[in-house]
Amino acid sequence: MNPEGLGGIAERIAEIRDRIARAALRAGRSPAAVTLVGASKTKPAAVLREALAAGLHVFGENRVQEAEPKIAALPGARWHFIGRLQRNKARRAAELFELIHSLDSLRLAETLDLLGRERGRPVPVLVEVNVAGEASKGGFAPAEFPAVLRRLAALSGLQVRGLMTIPPPVGDPEGARPYFQTVARFAREQGPEAGLDLAELSMGMSDDFEVAVEEGATLVRVGTALFGSRAFPE
Ligand SMILES: *Cc1c(COP(=O)(O)O)cnc(C)c1O
Repeated sequence: MNPEGLGGIAERIAEIRDRIARAALRAGRSPAAVTLVGASKTKPAAVLREALAAGLHVFGENRVQEAEPKIAALPGARWHFIGRLQRNKARRAAELFELIHSLDSLRLAETLDLLGRERGRPVPVLVEVNVAGEASKGGFAPAEFPAVLRRLAALSGLQVRGLMTIPPPVGDPEGARPYFQTVARFAREQGPEAGLDLAELSMGMSDDFEVAVEEGATLVRVGTALFGSRAFPE
């Protein structure tokens, strides 16, 4: 069995959960307030099935096409969309995923809003914050945030539940802390101003999820630390 094989996954889930719990307690938070989302891109359904059997219930996928057969193969799992969503895949994504973490443009918001109104059930989303204003990244820059939130709050087909961020590469986990703090502050201060309850914070990945939990993350998206390195480029 290879080192990323079936034997190790239960231990890794337990270890990550333990580290999440300790980070939560350090910050005076309840460990139960943090959901571990297995970032499962490139990993086959068989690996996910093993993880599900070991108690990992929520998976985050980056591509609708890749996710679709995995979702069909794993009844009982819950699915979040965490990648960049093309508008022509929005309808399928809204059907398949219980939460879209990566709402990154007003055009996508309008497409999802229409779908939500059509089906009579708002589409749950998180708003992606491009916290360092990186040109290479999707999401809304801090400067445009107040206006964007007000605009989103007016779309009845969307249920805006919180914020998501991927901080710029910083080299060590502590370097990400100020970005997580900024996003948490946005949720706290700008949510109510726009009439939104931004209770969910999706932040933290394999290298920095403990810092993210200390700063208020309710959803951590962990891939490599759970499933091992990815064999294929994204
Ligand atoms: C792949 C991915 C992750 C997980 O990254 P790791 O460093 O492997 O934990 C988290 N969030 C998003 C959006 C991703 O695409």
